[in-house]
Amino acid sequence: MSNEIRRIERQNERIRQVRRERMCLAIVLAVVALIGIITVIFIVRKPRITIRTESLSMTQDETVPKFKVKVVVKGNKDKILDKETKYTVKKLESELKSGKNYEISCKADGKTDGKFKIQLKLSDEFKKKLNKEWSRKLEVTVEEGTLTVKNKYGSWDGEKFKKTDGSYAKNEFISYEGNQYYFGENGKKVTGELQLGGKVYTFSKSGKLKSEEFYVDPEKPMIALTFDDGPGPETEKLLSTLEQYNARATFFMVGSQVDKYPDTIKKMKEIGCELGNHTAEHKSLKKLSDAEIKEAINSVSDKVAAATGGSPTTVTRPPYGAFDDHVKAAAPEPLIMWSIDTLDWKTKNVQSTIKSVNTATDGDIVLMHDIHKTSVEAAIQVIPQLIEKGYQLVTVSEMAEARGVTLENGGVYFSFYKQ
Ligand code: ZN
Repeated sequence: MSNEIRRIERQNERIRQVRRERMCLAIVLAVVALIGIITVIFIVRKPRITIRTESLSMTQDETVPKFKVKVVVKGNKDKILDKETKYTVKKLESELKSGKNYEISCKADGKTDGKFKIQLKLSDEFKKKLNKEWSRKLEVTVEEGTLTVKNKYGSWDGEKFKKTDGSYAKNEFISYEGNQYYFGENGKKVTGELQLGGKVYTFSKSGKLKSEEFYVDPEKPMIALTFDDGPGPETEKLLSTLEQYNARATFFMVGSQVDKYPDTIKKMKEIGCELGNHTAEHKSLKKLSDAEIKEAINSVSDKVAAATGGSPTTVTRPPYGAFDDHVKAAAPEPLIMWSIDTLDWKTKNVQSTIKSVNTATDGDIVLMHDIHKTSVEAAIQVIPQLIEKGYQLVTVSEMAEARGVTLENGGVYFSFYKQ
């Protein structure tokens, strides 16, 4: 009987033993599996770095603010990216925070309103590492923000424009997101055509300015101011005054001066002035052969075309006003004389030049020389006076057209009086 009990007890003990062993094994396996899973997750899930440029806003014409960058790291910061140098994710994070490995740029100049992307460009070296050595170790994402440049004048209110002082734009141009708009007497934006201050403006259906052209009213009096022997160091100043008053002039330029002032000539063209020819060396054309006359004029025209990006001269003033039949026959451009000689080159006196210009009336061509400081000073003073008197200051070709005259090569013109 006792033998039988002992046998059963031994049997039970063995069963318990097996159970304990199985339990232990299960726990060990579970732990191993857990460690394995954690390790796998750790290996597979690379640390992630997000580099973000933060969005900013400013008002037009203020200084563009410094762009801010935020660096966020998720995952194991101690992960080693480079064994030899023991370079870790943490080290990289601090480098990124100090502005290394990328460049920030933004097309906003602060003067133009609108929304502009703040771009973040990773350096080539950094990008290369991310794609090669670090491709399994690290993930980098770039998030770009925007810079909002708010319009300094105000904001839209339907068809009207509410200015920062609370009033509505009226009889004025407003620049908005790089486009020009004009608001009329009723405060509404203008569409279609508008004639204003000697110009014709064309606006799109949405009110954006599409083009502007000078407009010469043939019924109103006009004068053509002309300047010889330049351009000179003072010519730019004269151009600024012309531009300010929507006025134009004709410049008869000499070859040697054309070489010196290409930018001035470009500006002449931009503000609607006429590019005139005063020959290469200011020689009397009467003393030149036909071929030499053509060469003296064409060579200057080519230089002017080069300076303006393709606009040659259109009219010629013969030096000393000298011409004869053979000059007329050879001239490749119309020959423009004058009806009022201010004698500015002789007097070099501002007041007497102004007085002389002020004798001009409708259809006159006035002769001056922009190489003299006194002449430019006189012109700067007399331009607003002539505008005030109701004259349109136009180019020679504009005046000819307004008076129905077709300019012909070799033709000689002194004035364009109303018939
Ligand atoms: Zn001259």
